[in-house]
Amino acid sequence: MKTACWLGPRRIEIIERPKPEPKPGEVLVQVESVGVCGSDIHYYLEGKIGDQVVTPPLVLGHEFAGIVCETNEAKYKHLLGKRVAVEPGIGCGTCEFCRTGHYNVCPEMRFLGGPGCDGALSEYIAVPAEYCFPVPETMTPPMASMVEPSAVALHAVELASVLPGETALIVGLGSIGLLTAQILLNSGVSQVAGIDIIPYRTAIAKQLGVHQTFTSPIENNIEESISWIQQITDNRGFDITFDCTNRSEGLIIACRGTRPAGRSVLVGISGEDYDRIPVSIARRRELRLQWCRRFRYNFPATIKLMEQKKILVENILTHHFTPDQTQTAFERVANTKDNLIKASIDWI
Ligand SMILES: [Zn+2]
Ligand SMILES: [Zn+2]
Repeated sequence: MKTACWLGPRRIEIIERPKPEPKPGEVLVQVESVGVCGSDIHYYLEGKIGDQVVTPPLVLGHEFAGIVCETNEAKYKHLLGKRVAVEPGIGCGTCEFCRTGHYNVCPEMRFLGGPGCDGALSEYIAVPAEYCFPVPETMTPPMASMVEPSAVALHAVELASVLPGETALIVGLGSIGLLTAQILLNSGVSQVAGIDIIPYRTAIAKQLGVHQTFTSPIENNIEESISWIQQITDNRGFDITFDCTNRSEGLIIACRGTRPAGRSVLVGISGEDYDRIPVSIARRRELRLQWCRRFRYNFPATIKLMEQKKILVENILTHHFTPDQTQTAFERVANTKDNLIKASIDWI
């Protein structure tokens, strides 16, 4: 079968590999569509995210959907022929954290398209049946590949414990930020504001119903963003802030934009081992900082919200590529110049 294989920084090539055989508990999925994630780009360019290092050759891709085409077990026959979205983070199932429901932070986690484990940029992939979630027939393959990032956004909002009437700020309006915004808008908050450095993204946020947006200049990004926040909140700050950026400044803006005794959910991946936190502000305001690690048990609810059009992905999925164009797709996502928000690689 064909795979789009990462062979080192900025190098992806089509390589033939044997078609995988499903092991006990697994089904074979014929891959239809794979989204390109910011985390894939860190691996593609730098070969690492913080202390998570990947070594080539590796097949990337963890946001995907496809058709279940093979199973050796009667109990999974009902999945045959179904389009499924697949959870890519496979917990060991036996450690303390897996057994208490926190499989998203399992230290022995196998992550499809992460260190030592091939992902979905290939014609077929064998995955645990329990991690496959059928999607409604109205959902196209690229839409179904958006279940994974949407589940991250849902988990982030869940971690924020949002109350009706609260105000929220999203720093970074890439796909995770735009998905988070939509879930917040459906959660009874009274105000959702958003900041990005790319005008196209703030425009999409507006279209999706974000109440106030600010396109920050790259120069002096932090101070410009903070003065906008102070202005629109009357110097109070937001009840809840979300950092959904891929850079260290996002975390700083989110913390500084949070009101005293407020909370900030940190979803973005700067790629660094250490980021700067405005500790004196965070302490004086007694902020609660909450990191977000992917998702846990969020796929079924995410699929329902997408089916009910409470999460729209059409405006976010801006670019589509063929498998042969995988390297081009990664380059385009990496340089964020041409109004791209989310790219998918469509295998069928
Ligand atoms: Zn992702
Ligand atoms: Zn575990």
